[in-house]
Amino acid sequence: MSPGKQASANTESVDNYLKAILTLGGREESRVTIKSLAERLRIAPASVTNMLQKLSGSTATLVDYERHGGVQLSPAGKRRALEVVRHHRLIETFLYEVLDYPLEEVHEEAERLEHFISERFEERIAAKLGHPKIDPHGHSIPSMEGEMTARESMLLADVIEDGIFVIDSVSDQDTHNLRLIEACGITPGARLRVRKNSSSDSYSVSIGRSSKAYDLSREVARDVRIIRLKG
Ligand SMILES: [Zn+2]
Repeated sequence: MSPGKQASANTESVDNYLKAILTLGGREESRVTIKSLAERLRIAPASVTNMLQKLSGSTATLVDYERHGGVQLSPAGKRRALEVVRHHRLIETFLYEVLDYPLEEVHEEAERLEHFISERFEERIAAKLGHPKIDPHGHSIPSMEGEMTARESMLLADVIEDGIFVIDSVSDQDTHNLRLIEACGITPGARLRVRKNSSSDSYSVSIGRSSKAYDLSREVARDVRIIRLKG
């Protein structure tokens, strides 16, 4: 491996750590456990600990790591994480809107490209797309200044009372689930009628005014975020 290649692989993995800590920490800036970080990154906990020690010991400290207290992003780490998330979501939007990629393929491509695009390229994509605030999965795109609007949404899998909801976003993490979700017509902004099936651990959903209902397993329902409109 050439030295250049090694350096870029490094940037990539640092970025992925920062992004995972941002996602898992949510808005409360709570500390993230090594276990949950290891699961999210699909890396052994020992390697995660190793990396965090490096990241918290570097001159430009990106994370605040404590042996038994988990990890949190430093202000610099948070800035970088939001920058990478902005890249990721802009690229996804560009691939979907301009290059006509199928929704379930944009994430993987964006995972590769997000670390490497220049400020200029980012600016041009944003301008071309009309400075979008939401990506095709329904996720907020952070602004150039690193601000990201947060909406109060809940997991479909956490619905206890049946009702009418609006679809907030769908997860981009699992291609298989995303395909199932799309096949039902679940798309951000659409209305969703939800009925919890008491006999099986699943949810019966119908889109808009359609009477056609689809059954979603709890596993798939974990990948859909919704906002309640009425009971
Ligand atoms: Zn994605």
